[in-house]
Amino acid sequence: MTQASFATHEVLNQSPPFEDVDLFAVDRPLAEAVAANGGASAHAELSEFGQHWGSAAMAARGRIANENTPKLRTFDSRGNRRDEVEFHPAYHELMARSAHAGVHNSTWNAEGKPAGGAAEVVRAAKFYMAAQVETGHLCPITMTRASVAALAAQPELLAKTMPVIGTRAYDPTFAPWPTKRGMTLGMGMTEKQGGTDVRSNRTRAVRDGEAYRITGHKWFMSAPMCDAFLVLAQADEGLTCFFMPRFTPDGSVNAIQFQRLKDKLGNRSNASSEVEFTGAHAMLVGAEGKGIRTIIQMVQLTRQDCAIASAGLMRSGLAHALHHARHRRVFQKHLADQPLMQAVLSDMALHVEASTALVMRLCRSFDQAPDDPGEAAFMRLLTPAVKYWVCKSAPGFLYEAMECLGGNGYVEEGILARHFRESPVNAIWEGSGNVMCLDVLRALSREAEAASAVLQGLVEETAGLPGAADAAACIGRAFRRPDSEHVARLAVEKLALLAAAAALNKVSPHQAELFAATRLAGNHASMYGAFDLAGDDISRLLERALP
Ligand SMILES: Cc1cc2nc3c(=O)[nH]c(=O)nc-3n(C[C@H](O)[C@H](O)[C@H](O)COP(=O)(O)OP(=O)(O)OC[C@H]3O[C@@H](n4cnc5c(N)ncnc54)[C@H](O)[C@@H]3O)c2cc1C
Repeated sequence: MTQASFATHEVLNQSPPFEDVDLFAVDRPLAEAVAANGGASAHAELSEFGQHWGSAAMAARGRIANENTPKLRTFDSRGNRRDEVEFHPAYHELMARSAHAGVHNSTWNAEGKPAGGAAEVVRAAKFYMAAQVETGHLCPITMTRASVAALAAQPELLAKTMPVIGTRAYDPTFAPWPTKRGMTLGMGMTEKQGGTDVRSNRTRAVRDGEAYRITGHKWFMSAPMCDAFLVLAQADEGLTCFFMPRFTPDGSVNAIQFQRLKDKLGNRSNASSEVEFTGAHAMLVGAEGKGIRTIIQMVQLTRQDCAIASAGLMRSGLAHALHHARHRRVFQKHLADQPLMQAVLSDMALHVEASTALVMRLCRSFDQAPDDPGEAAFMRLLTPAVKYWVCKSAPGFLYEAMECLGGNGYVEEGILARHFRESPVNAIWEGSGNVMCLDVLRALSREAEAASAVLQGLVEETAGLPGAADAAACIGRAFRRPDSEHVARLAVEKLALLAAAAALNKVSPHQAELFAATRLAGNHASMYGAFDLAGDDISRLLERALP
């Protein structure tokens, strides 16, 4: 029986859902940034991905996977240990879709070597679109992709795992990884007494024949149903990286005991565990004592993904805000035609254009680094700076996007409340803000010549843009100071802004001019929309953002 309508409740002046759109086709700044960084030939593939991920069905899966959070099943009904985490089918569907598109492996060839071409840029565009729909499941997706870089330190292990990592099948069965159609990997570094300071790890590794037995705890270990984890533990020669599978080679369940799952602000579809290892079987990855050097190869890639995901979250915030403003009328006009709302939305659009151009430029450096030392230096210096600026700008941005929808922005039925709760995590994990600034300083001191060539390159690419020369001089002065830590945040932010202006200059010189005028020359106010852009520029920015 249909419900009688309420006489006073005719629904009008509400925006339709922003669903069943091609997330690639409606995003001109993304398409142009992909093309400018070598990915033009993948437009059809990306459009197919964009249509799929922009569908109402995928949006529903994202919502349902976050409403039905994972459950830890420590024991079965008879008291036997299980240490399994149950996910809603919607989560598994998201995983399967990402795996099917190669988001977890497409930057590697079958041997686990960089795939070359524009593989990083193309995969980043997919990651960016998937993040607009559901970010929790991207945690195991990013860790699986990144793990290959660390496994490279143990070639025979890489050769064994690559045929399983390299498939596009998602296989959630709880079974030994060599028997599976596809596998996922996680990582365990953070302990109660130290996350950033991994040298304080107390987990111990003791040799047991060809393998090791690991005893200790991890305070955060996400995606606990991964098939294996790269774990840091203290061996005789010092902190060492290990491959710890969920099953031992004889097929029994490994001694990995989950204590509880974290109750998190956001990222709720993803499980993050506290875990004890009670003599867990593990294999060496890289040399004993070289654990940080080994796992940092993985962390560099997860940091890159943090920046891509945060840019994707902001893009989603912008698209929803602009879509709503074009449908919602206030005081006889659409919100999108109100001058003050135009000022806010266009300024936000400029921020997203620059962030998108910047992350795609960074991904090009990942593509080219293996054959080009200049690009390798760019990647090394800019990864922490880009993660710092893009990820830390996301919460404020998403709050503003939410406000554009008024009360509707604040309720859980829309996606913006979820995006907002998600947004701080990319800045916190994989190296928090200060740690990223210290990492930029480390790159500058250890690889001074290469880093100064990168800075010089940015100066040349931004020549003539308002405020660029002054910004570059300020960065140089700050980094030369003996007490550079005191001014590191200022210098790293300026470095990211300068790199964003340079990246945008390759995509759209006019937009780069606006970005430099407002962010490098002008002292941008702390709120969006507090800058006097010309009417033509406002229209152009909004049209580019969403046709
Ligand atoms: C949802 C979630 C999932 C996670 N999943 C995983 C996982 O799967 N595997 C894993 O290993 N870890 C995981 N983590 C842990 C995460 O990586 C750490 O929380 C993070 O690295 C920070 O470490 P910490 O919490 O020990 O904070 P601390 O290291 O104590 O840092 C606290 C603050 O101090 C700052 N700081 C640190 N050193 C300095 C310094 N020298 N100077 C100035 N400031 C400094 C940091 O920037 C930070 O802001 C996860 C965290 C979260 C929130």
